[in-house]
Amino acid sequence: MAFENIHSSPQPNQPQGVSTIAAIATAIVPEQGSIGIVRMSGPDALEIAQKMFRAPGTQIWESHRVLYGFIEHPETQQTIDESLLLYMQAPRSFTKEDVIEFHCHGGMIAVQQVLALCISLGANLAQPGEFTLRAFLNGRLDLTQAESVADLVGAKSPQAAQTALAGLQGKLAAPIQSLRQTCLDILAEVEARIDFADDLPPLDEPQLIAQVQEMEATMEKILLTSTQGELLRSGLKVAIVGRPNVGKSSLLNAWSQTDRAIVTDLPGTTRDVVESNLVVGGIPVKVLDTAGIREATDQVEQIGISRSLKTALEADIVLFTMDASTGWIEADQVLLDQLTHPAQILIVNKSDLVEDLPDIDHSIFAGIAVTSAAHKQGIRDLEKAILKIVHAGQAKASNMELAINQRQASALTQAIQHLHDASSAIEQGMPLDFWTIDLRGAIQRLGEITGEEIVESVLDRIFSRFCIGK
Ligand code: GDP
Repeated sequence: MAFENIHSSPQPNQPQGVSTIAAIATAIVPEQGSIGIVRMSGPDALEIAQKMFRAPGTQIWESHRVLYGFIEHPETQQTIDESLLLYMQAPRSFTKEDVIEFHCHGGMIAVQQVLALCISLGANLAQPGEFTLRAFLNGRLDLTQAESVADLVGAKSPQAAQTALAGLQGKLAAPIQSLRQTCLDILAEVEARIDFADDLPPLDEPQLIAQVQEMEATMEKILLTSTQGELLRSGLKVAIVGRPNVGKSSLLNAWSQTDRAIVTDLPGTTRDVVESNLVVGGIPVKVLDTAGIREATDQVEQIGISRSLKTALEADIVLFTMDASTGWIEADQVLLDQLTHPAQILIVNKSDLVEDLPDIDHSIFAGIAVTSAAHKQGIRDLEKAILKIVHAGQAKASNMELAINQRQASALTQAIQHLHDASSAIEQGMPLDFWTIDLRGAIQRLGEITGEEIVESVLDRIFSRFCIGK
């Protein structure tokens, strides 16, 4: 082992007393996963790693080189795991600190023992999101990029992952930073007129108003992506309801056997509701089959009904399913009368059993689809009806591939309001001081989005939703 040619790197931007943190970076699943990674970051990461990792032969410890060896207890020399070690010297790492990764065997035991050894040698257990927080504090990422890391890890559809990746690549940070810079430039111009009114030519007010309004329009366009962002992050809840035997469970089965079901089925959380996760038009969709809605015969059934109705009401879209072979009957009407959901699609199932579809007035529904669950037909029409409702409720967010989150949307809304007030102040010929108040407000809000102006409590809230090890 050639220890002599390595040095723990200097940490020029590192405040005094920064600790070294450690965590398991991969998901821990008992008896599963061939590799598990334990990650350490901080000024002592390398020193700790050298105490616990033996790389046999003439391997050289240098940055971005993989070492093969054994994790051993420094006192007892007991071997804990056979693993690979990756050293990333600051600042060429995710956190811009010295980072060590141990690529251990999977499962639960090896990684937990390795983590325990890191801690016993001086590392602290990382808080959720602490690696990403350090990446942000050390200037490796801006706040929108850091939030995209969590979105990428939690993405429930390929489109959600794509959007998160766009955020990580700075596709939101770039326009926001440029808008903020323009506000700063205008503010400088206005303040110069306050301080040196006599020495400078007057401001071109109509041009200034046009510039501010153009910024407002750009922000409005970015703001429109928030609905899509929410859909991609949280997904859509769709409930299948209908009286017994209309084919609800068969429909869910037929649907979840399509290529849209990229996530495995989850067992129902209650005896009445079965869940399935699908992706429709890039949007994660959780389908709930409320099989329990039926005539109440006893108390348990009654609980089933109220639970099912509650599920339906919590859903974004309800698929009200009827049986084409019986036509619309009294029991359908009784159930419909109990459901006052604004987004219901009528599903006319068992269409294979009839020559001609029953004549139904579906004007109170937001859409209709004719299906045969038994023959897996009509699923695409059902999805089209869902997407039509989704797109109707969602302003067209141009072709932006980014999607802002609620925190960013709220700051952006306030920034737009400040700019709006600023252009009104200019139009009404208010004193220059008034313009600067609103410009400063907009600058502050835009800075909150990127993290250039942010308070610690907000950071805590953002990073606490991360998983440990990220
Ligand atoms: P649920 O009580 O609404 O969940 O209804 P099920 O899914 O259990 O279906 C009730 C019965 O109808 C079963 O025997 C299914 O095989 C049958 N069924 C469901 N969908 C169809 C369909 O599209 N065509 C035909 N012919 N039978 C269907």
